[in-house]
Amino acid sequence: MADIVFRNVSKSYGAMLAVEDASFTVNDNEFFCFFGPPLSGKSTILRLILGLETPDAGEILIGGKPVNTVSPAERNVAMVFQNLALFPHMSALDNVRFPLVERKVADVDIKRRVADVAAKLHIGHILHKPPAQLSGGERQRVAIARALVRDPNAYLMDDPISALDARLREETRVELKRIQRDLGKTLVYVTHDQEEAMSIADRIAILDNGRIRQIGAPAEIYDRPASTYVARLLGSPVMNILKSVRGDGGVEAAEGTVRIADRAAPAEAIEIGLRPEDIKVKPWTGNETADGGPGRPARVFEVEPLGGYTVVTLAAGQARLKALLRGQPDIRPDAMVAISCEPARVHYFGQGGSALAR
Ligand code: ADP
Ligand code: MG
Repeated sequence: MADIVFRNVSKSYGAMLAVEDASFTVNDNEFFCFFGPPLSGKSTILRLILGLETPDAGEILIGGKPVNTVSPAERNVAMVFQNLALFPHMSALDNVRFPLVERKVADVDIKRRVADVAAKLHIGHILHKPPAQLSGGERQRVAIARALVRDPNAYLMDDPISALDARLREETRVELKRIQRDLGKTLVYVTHDQEEAMSIADRIAILDNGRIRQIGAPAEIYDRPASTYVARLLGSPVMNILKSVRGDGGVEAAEGTVRIADRAAPAEAIEIGLRPEDIKVKPWTGNETADGGPGRPARVFEVEPLGGYTVVTLAAGQARLKALLRGQPDIRPDAMVAISCEPARVHYFGQGGSALAR
């Protein structure tokens, strides 16, 4: 059992409040991700779990046991540092064995652990090779095996694959996700890459200046962001956020842009949010009435064909919007289009940018 619990934990460096009143539970066997911009407190949270830092306030529990005064060694939590590079002069096998040899683990136990990890990572057949003879993906698997060969209560990873090129990063994150599931270990993972956080984690905690702003499954945070801050962090292109104006008959509309016939729109809404994939774009027929009909007029500002989908930037009223369309639609710059959005897909935000229930 290795769940990790923070109860109202704070940590300052001088006047800098690095982590403020953090409360969360990482469940046993969970892939839990901290996501936030640089300096938001991600690494400090890992160091607090590891025991390299002591909280100024609050309580930390690992496996149900308070650990505020427990040394890092006794916590038995393994930190995987940023660098997943292999030692080039050692075989893959010696690379994987290295952390156990260093800790003077008995030979028979080393054999057993290495065989176990090698089977789970499907690298048994390449262990005799030096890194130079391995493909990029194989090298990553061996490096992950070396990181995982110890048998701790939980693994911590601080942005472990950010140094890799984009393709290897995509490959490696799939491997990591699969490996974590096979090993059945608690993994606390830090990233500043929203796509990585979304794709890899069972749950994500969103950090902002040392504060946890939302915790949830990726799809839950994406579909129901608690604030404009969170809404803008996840999604590419980012959510369109527009000023909200109350029109006739309980209709909520963003000024001069999209008309949303939503009678259930909350009266306190100050801003509305529209995900780019929720904006419908149709050719302008000229029959649309100026204030409604099947869509409001917009001018196509620019078109970015990305193969499987196309990003269209629209000039609508006073605003710029981005729409994400499937495939490669026949839309050109400067064309007039009609844009609309299903009321059910609209996000409403009130005072301080916090999300409102409809
Ligand atoms: P992240 O990992 O999200 O980039 P950090 O946890 O490293 O953020 O840092 C959070 C805040 O704490 C930052 O403002 C950073 O400058 C400060 N900080 C982190 N470590 C130290 C330290 N050892 N001494 C002083 N300030 C620190
Ligand atoms: Mg960091």
